[in-house]
Amino acid sequence: MKKTALITGGAGFIGSHLCDLLLEKGHNVICVDNLLTGKMDNIRHLAREKGFEFVKHNVSQYINIKGRIDYILHFASPASPTDYLKYPIQTLKVGSLGTHNALGLAKAKRATFLLASTSEVYGDPLVNPQPEKYWGNVNPIGPRGVYDEAKRFAEAITMAYHRVHSLDTKIARIFNTYGERMRHNDGRAIPNFISQAIKGRPITMYGTGKQTRSFCYISDMVRGLYKLLVSRTHDPVNLGNPAEMTLLDLAGLIIENTGSGSRIVFEKLPVDDPKVRCPDIRKARTLLGWSPKVHIEEGLRKTISYFLS
Ligand code: UDP
Repeated sequence: MKKTALITGGAGFIGSHLCDLLLEKGHNVICVDNLLTGKMDNIRHLAREKGFEFVKHNVSQYINIKGRIDYILHFASPASPTDYLKYPIQTLKVGSLGTHNALGLAKAKRATFLLASTSEVYGDPLVNPQPEKYWGNVNPIGPRGVYDEAKRFAEAITMAYHRVHSLDTKIARIFNTYGERMRHNDGRAIPNFISQAIKGRPITMYGTGKQTRSFCYISDMVRGLYKLLVSRTHDPVNLGNPAEMTLLDLAGLIIENTGSGSRIVFEKLPVDDPKVRCPDIRKARTLLGWSPKVHIEEGLRKTISYFLS
């Protein structure tokens, strides 16, 4: 019998790629999204697909879905720093109330639950790379705290449902991910730099550009998420590409691959912006047999084509 997966935030960047993957795997997909930061354009191609259903709903309110559900993947949340600074209360609500509702639905349906957590749970890390056993360095009352603490709460309540209700839960700590369907105005480094480079506008570098990130291409990420979903692991697992680079290196690659004449302008570093970030993915390698395959140059070329189209 066909399985049914429900994805909250299914019209978002990662969520919509998950809808594609789960349909490809032969599952029915229910995509729930209130379109705060998600877009119908991301799922329009699925509208006529048999086994696909879109429900416009804010999961911070009670979720009412009839019928059987086998998997719940909770991806609803603003996820770019620009977005969660714009929607601080919605971000806190979807990470707390939204996660509670999604877990409640999973419990009622006896569904497997996967939480989209984040490398932001490590805050501005004092350990690099970050293994899952690192507890992080988060400022609870800073501007990023609305996302970081919501996701930390989401992890805590997910583990509580696992321990108390024996719910089959998984927690993915997702590191920086990029690719097709990121919004041009998303505010994150890769969409900003690509949009600026193709328009010949100045590349806005926050701080010195010596801060580091590690960027994972979307196809690698959704492959890892699926492996985690069907695994027997309940503890958090880092998913990301461990190829760490400075933001200056990233801007250089984007300028080169767009053939842009843009120059770099330096702006103020946002409050609590992490100085380094790199996933330790030993756990994902051993437990899931997963590692990313797409090199940054290849992923950037595909993303640039999308931004040009
Ligand atoms: N950044 C930048 N210019 C931009 C957007 C972001 O220099 O136009 C920097 C940002 O300050 C951070 C890094 O790029 O150091 C990655 O930021 P992003 O918003 O992509 O996500 P984060 O990793 O901070 O969650």
